Amino acid sequence: MRKYVIIGAQGSGKGTQSLLLARDLDLVHISVGDIFRWHVKSHTKLGAQVRRTMSAGDLVGDDLVEGVVRERLDQHDWNYGFIIDGFPRSRRQTEFFLESYDIDGVIHLDLPDEEVRRRVLARRLCSKCGMDYNLIADRPTQEGRCDVCGGELVAREDDTEDAIAERLRNYRAKTDPILELFGRKEYVVTVDARPDIETVQRTIREELGLPMPR
Ligand code: AMP
Repeated sequence: MRKYVIIGAQGSGKGTQSLLLARDLDLVHISVGDIFRWHVKSHTKLGAQVRRTMSAGDLVGDDLVEGVVRERLDQHDWNYGFIIDGFPRSRRQTEFFLESYDIDGVIHLDLPDEEVRRRVLARRLCSKCGMDYNLIADRPTQEGRCDVCGGELVAREDDTEDAIAERLRNYRAKTDPILELFGRKEYVVTVDARPDIETVQRTIREELGLPMPR
């Protein structure tokens, strides 16, 4: 069983790289941001609690996040392991995680702030099926329309200049120290997230001693 954490600023490719690893190695991909977005979209009580915080680019409170992660991992549907994306994001979350789960590695995707801004502002999502697009590298065939279902492409509510600046500040202030905590246990591999998707994926696998993509 393999248990990984993936850490990186917004737009560093956490989601994409996690999915590639998950698909090939039969890992369950757990994205805390996706879980929250589902709650917001489904108008649950939890959704109402986190909606404002999320759209301002702030971090949701540790208690709430830890509850969501525990509940998700308690489902035990991860026979071959998991890769968790978007958690932990603070010192406290890291301590909670290290106490509760033993992990095999932390993948740190490293991306300079300028590139984060450029990538995040180009990000689009289909409002109907949720398919991801990127106006730099992965443009839809017809502008503003999803290639798969024809739905309208929209920016994520928290992908605005102000929210990105706030998220980056949060990221640098809170997430960087996490790497130090994990680093003490020699879990962390830092990978340059600037190259194309396949190169980044190969580097991750090289660093973790995993089989190369098929
Ligand atoms: P993401 O899709 O990972 O960028 O997450 C979107 C938003 O969900 C973040 O900007 C936070 O508001 C919230 N969120 C996701 N994961 C966490 C976490 N581990 N701690 C606190 N807030 C989180």
